[in-house]
Amino acid sequence: MRKKIAAANWKMNLSLLQGEQLINDILQSGIKLKEGQEVVIATPFPYLLKAKTLLKNYPGFYLGAQNCYSEKSGAFTGEVSAEMLQSVGVDYVILGHSERREYFEESNAMLAKKIDMALAYGLKPIFCCGEPLEVRKAEGQNAYVATQLEESLFHLSAEQLQQVVIAYEPIWAIGTGLTASAAQAQDMHAYIRSQIAAKYGREAALHLSILYGGSAKPANAGELFACPDVDGGLIGGASLVAADFTAIIEKLS
Ligand code: 13P
Repeated sequence: MRKKIAAANWKMNLSLLQGEQLINDILQSGIKLKEGQEVVIATPFPYLLKAKTLLKNYPGFYLGAQNCYSEKSGAFTGEVSAEMLQSVGVDYVILGHSERREYFEESNAMLAKKIDMALAYGLKPIFCCGEPLEVRKAEGQNAYVATQLEESLFHLSAEQLQQVVIAYEPIWAIGTGLTASAAQAQDMHAYIRSQIAAKYGREAALHLSILYGGSAKPANAGELFACPDVDGGLIGGASLVAADFTAIIEKLS
């Protein structure tokens, strides 16, 4: 009914050669995607073109970028536009990752503009949301994530929303080895879906893929992906090892 997705976020890792090897190892692992399953590989910008040629003949495998700029074009030295990503064949773009929010001060308002740019150029945003540890400790995670959704996504039309994938990434679980328990992930994913239903209706909410991110690994992916509202994962560290990432793909339900 809705897509099940294993998305690799390489972050700022690997050389071009290592990246090529990793993609080839994944593609040649013999992994078979089932109906409705997708794999996204989000490489650093300089590798996108090469990755596109490697993934081209593999149905169900898509190319992702890790960011794009909020303006269309112009004097923004060092930035990369959604139109540029479209022109090299990018399918998905990760937006609002907590590392972008923290180190590059990306606000919910700026992310709303990035989402608009991505959609205007036919890219599917993987919109990341999630709370820091102190908010979780104070049990404020639902309100925190609701504000992120409201301020960055809720200006979209129902039709535009269909192009969006949401990734719930509790900040305290990213790269820390701490994973949200399956129950914590399910609770938040169900909450996110309920917020989407309240704004866009039940049908739209049922069709939205919501991925979990934060120290997802072969050992815990099965339990996480078995939760009814968890539709796959956005994988950091474990996506850099072909055997681990393919094992995670195999856990998609
Ligand atoms: P880790 O899987 O390394 O915790 O990273 C998660 C993440 O940030 C994916 O975007």
